[in-house]
Amino acid sequence: MSTLEIKNLHVSVETTDGPKSILHGVDLTIASGEIHAIMGPNGSGKSTLAYAVAGHPKYQITEGEILVDGENVVEMSADERAQAGLFLAMQYPVEVPGVSVSNFLRTAKTALTGEAPPLRQWVGDVKTAMDKLRMDPDFAQRDVNHGFSGGEKKRHEILQMELLQPKFAVLDETDSGLDVDALRVVSDGVNRVHQDTGLGVVLITHYTRILNYIKPDHVHVFIGGRVAESGGPELAATLEAEGYDKYAPVSA
Ligand code: ADP
Ligand code: MG
Ligand code: MG
Repeated sequence: MSTLEIKNLHVSVETTDGPKSILHGVDLTIASGEIHAIMGPNGSGKSTLAYAVAGHPKYQITEGEILVDGENVVEMSADERAQAGLFLAMQYPVEVPGVSVSNFLRTAKTALTGEAPPLRQWVGDVKTAMDKLRMDPDFAQRDVNHGFSGGEKKRHEILQMELLQPKFAVLDETDSGLDVDALRVVSDGVNRVHQDTGLGVVLITHYTRILNYIKPDHVHVFIGGRVAESGGPELAATLEAEGYDKYAPVSA
């Protein structure tokens, strides 16, 4: 049983005009086996929260804490945070030309565990995980995200999650740009890891559609860099019907 605690998190991003304050005191606690949906309009700071948790160097934590099992990870690098059990599936995954999916995954696993996984077992694990995500075996030899369709990029993020076995995953709009078949495959992947390993999930989404496939225990409405309201799954239905208009944006 693990916990991810985000306490009074304030985050600024580096811009050409200097630092810009985006998150203004976010509090969230996620336990193993829980699924928390974070919903909010464009520009409300959802991706900033994801990057700040994962340790993107451009996103400065100016106040507050991020604790994994009580240990503050704020001073840790992105690699160290991955070792602490955090995983981010990015909204816009980056291309890594010249590096195959297969090599990328093995390097990531090696960095995480400190030793290269035995090759034969690893090849089998990758194949099994790719089969479950209905990915063509040829995919393993393609360059990471290079020329991938939107759906392939998102499957690749979930493939990493399956193989790296984090304690907590932040999934940033993993549903965006997916057709209904891809959405089902990706959602099944998340649910499988959640059930098999007790993964705690922070599911960032703009739309309620994915919540038909991945059932959240808690729903948080994110407005102007803060959590404006928290509730159970019923809150998603209210948002679907009423939108975000009733939440006046909070000025920075
Ligand atoms: P969301 O994911 O909810 O759409 P973001 O976290 O991407 O929101 O963005 C929140 C706000 O921070 C927006 O106004 C956005 O323009 C700004 N922002 C985020 N990242 C950067 C950046 N690297 N440089 C400048 N502004 C940024
Ligand atoms: Mg659960
Ligand atoms: Mg975003």
